[in-house]
Amino acid sequence: MTRTLSSPELSSAILTIDLDAVTANYRLLQEKVEGKPVNPVVKANAYGLGIDRIAPALYRAGAKTFFVAQIEEGIELRQILPGVEIHILNGLMPGSESVMAEYGLVPVLNTLSQIEAWADYCAAHHRKMAADIHIDTGMQRLGLTDKERERLSDHPALCDAIHVPYIISHLACADTPANPMNGEQLKAFHTALSRLPFLSGAKACLANSSGIFLSPEYHFDAVRPGISLWGGHPQPGDSNHLNPMKQVIRLQGKILQTRDIDTPSGVGYGATHRARSGDRIATVGVGYADGFLRSLGNQGHLYLDQVKVPIVGRISMDLLAVDITQVPGDKAHVGSLVDLIGPHNPVDEMAHDAGTISYELLTGLGNRYHRIYLDGGV
Ligand SMILES: *Cc1c(COP(=O)(O)O)cnc(C)c1O
Repeated sequence: MTRTLSSPELSSAILTIDLDAVTANYRLLQEKVEGKPVNPVVKANAYGLGIDRIAPALYRAGAKTFFVAQIEEGIELRQILPGVEIHILNGLMPGSESVMAEYGLVPVLNTLSQIEAWADYCAAHHRKMAADIHIDTGMQRLGLTDKERERLSDHPALCDAIHVPYIISHLACADTPANPMNGEQLKAFHTALSRLPFLSGAKACLANSSGIFLSPEYHFDAVRPGISLWGGHPQPGDSNHLNPMKQVIRLQGKILQTRDIDTPSGVGYGATHRARSGDRIATVGVGYADGFLRSLGNQGHLYLDQVKVPIVGRISMDLLAVDITQVPGDKAHVGSLVDLIGPHNPVDEMAHDAGTISYELLTGLGNRYHRIYLDGGV
């Protein structure tokens, strides 16, 4: 007989992912962009949350076009959602044309040579197949340079064999609304679009989550959010704005052991925290192997039944310690669940305490949690 490897009783930690919150966030973004297409970015296994559950939930909420980074991610999504449009941000790698075509994936063409390769492939197969064109408006990461874009403007026939559904670009500083670079990239994108009149049938798409919240000028014909769908704050640096998104994940770790300190002592590796007599310490079964970053040692705090409990000492591979002196004795026992990310400590706050961003925290969450998906809405 096979035994399931994961159950809430046996697991040291539980990751709850609220699919209804994901779809509520999707609808909020739809309202924000007044019904323009909202095309989710579900790269890196939907930012670690599980593309097999996240993508179908978004599909039911109305998403018909998805973006991923890698071709393998596109193939995986194709098995999950046979009927949707899947766009591959990392572009067209040499030799990948036939796999793109076989799985009906839409490459985002990031260079002139990628445009030429796709055009040749389409011509050879006597079929105008879809590919997006990415214009770099100031990130120096992916996309056509100014020179390449000018060459394309001068040679419209390069695209004759291709169907171009989207012209995209990407914002470097959208999470800091006051940064002048946002306006510069907006202007550069307008300029590029105006110089590609032969692609006027393509939809223009610039904004990620933060871009959506800059202003309607950034919305163009469609938007490409990721992090905001999973509850990440689209304007994280702006403390005047409360996070408008619903929180999606809750991460709970189990108390494996508690102890009352009678003689002052160090806690954890390196003895970096000193417990005093009378303190109570609980050991929780989550560590850096679970993506609970080591930089949170002696930094963050967790919640046990609404009470804030500071992380004390270093984070171990599988364990961390919290000071539960302030918690009523009957609330903290072996098996009690402590919120590592939860209603009182959202993902952005934990990421900030860890010296990183919600993106890195989410995509780094490990595979050892027992996962629960809430979807009461469907
Ligand atoms: C990841 C990514 C997005 C989504 O960004 P969020 O900030 O998560 O909303 C959009 N566009 C591109 C090109 C990306 O790489």
